[in-house]
Amino acid sequence: MPVTYWLEHAWLDPAVVSGVLLTADGGRITEVRPGVPAPPPGAEVLRGLTLPGLADAHSHAFHRALRGAAQTGGGTFWTWRETMYAAAGRLDPDSCFALARAVYAEMALAGITCVGEFHYLHHQAGGRPYADPNAMGEALLAAAEAAGVRITLLDTVYLHGGLDHGGHRPLAGVQLRFGDGGTDAWYARWSRLKPSGHARIGAAVHSVRAVAEEDGYAAVAEAAAGLPLHVHLSEQPAENAACLAVYGRTPARLLADHGFWGPNSTAVHATHLTEDDIALLGGSGTTVCMCPTTERDLADGIGPAPALHRAGSPISLGSDSHAVIDLFEEARATELDERLRTGTRGHWTAAELLRAAAGSGHASLGWPEAGRLAPGALADFTTVALDTVRTAGPPPRLGAETAVFAATAADVRHTVVAGRPVVRDGRHLLVEDVPGALAAAVAAALPD
Ligand SMILES: [Zn+2]
Repeated sequence: MPVTYWLEHAWLDPAVVSGVLLTADGGRITEVRPGVPAPPPGAEVLRGLTLPGLADAHSHAFHRALRGAAQTGGGTFWTWRETMYAAAGRLDPDSCFALARAVYAEMALAGITCVGEFHYLHHQAGGRPYADPNAMGEALLAAAEAAGVRITLLDTVYLHGGLDHGGHRPLAGVQLRFGDGGTDAWYARWSRLKPSGHARIGAAVHSVRAVAEEDGYAAVAEAAAGLPLHVHLSEQPAENAACLAVYGRTPARLLADHGFWGPNSTAVHATHLTEDDIALLGGSGTTVCMCPTTERDLADGIGPAPALHRAGSPISLGSDSHAVIDLFEEARATELDERLRTGTRGHWTAAELLRAAAGSGHASLGWPEAGRLAPGALADFTTVALDTVRTAGPPPRLGAETAVFAATAADVRHTVVAGRPVVRDGRHLLVEDVPGALAAAVAAALPD
């Protein structure tokens, strides 16, 4: 059955167009017709600015439990990680499902229609597999379905507890839950994961800290041929220093030597890079996923996103540790951090940042047919109110600038996935009480 939406304003890249009739059938957009000044009978009216659905290209759902809790006291990335491990130690498939369902519902309320879940919490305490060795991953896939969003499960290889100048350390404590023992065992488990209507499967190497050259980066890249392949890259200077000490190469060069980079690959963070690293990533067409709210939360630094983009890398955006879940904030931080770093304005246009949040994000998650309002694309879109205290005032033709530089997730009014409303008038239609679900799931995940 075709469904018809009348969009008061729509971002038809690169311009905002007012009065657009959008028809969807079978989960895809079949027609986008501008020049319709009033809603015809039977059309669902979406007032505000409709954008393509946003892709949160880098998520660890369980990190949402740390919101607030990780903001007391000081420390570094490395002390934050200890707090994160405490939450990781408590989750089982049921509580993982409950937490992820609530987090993905929060995402839908923020206009996110697809999440890339970088998943490494695979096993029981001590590393013992569950009866279904993919019980945790399956819980995440089910959670996305229950919350009405698409997911790419980036099932992650995580074999070592860290890298210092003497080499890799063994997994210890909570980290034992992350490990499969080797890339062969990872492959045996990973290859049992199957895509479905709302879900696709990709692979990830956690980082050069957690997977050694001897483990075989190429084996993971070959297993994931044609699928999304992600990695945390050079998030912290200490990772680079240890990698140089042990391998005589930067993490980007080390992975390049094993054929890791290419158009299906995504480097997450890519914060501390050399000129050679930038050329490697850009020249290979590797996507770079910026997570600026996490990077500033963890005092990581500001990655060279404009230089990477000029070198050839598409940019995607992720909320990563979920200090906040707001892709408008990630988009504007990408520009505003650069302004602070350089003392000049105008490194990214609003249109470029929306492309990062929508089309490039989806492509990096293996959904190249999503992220634009055009016939043939998946019927995934979201509407931002232009009449709230934050967004009222600018003319609709500046809707993209308003969305990127003033709107927040709280201004999202409607979200549609596969042609079906998931959020209507700011209310999630599948998860009745999202704040209540978050509160209950977070309480269960936090240490007493
Ligand atoms: Zn991450």
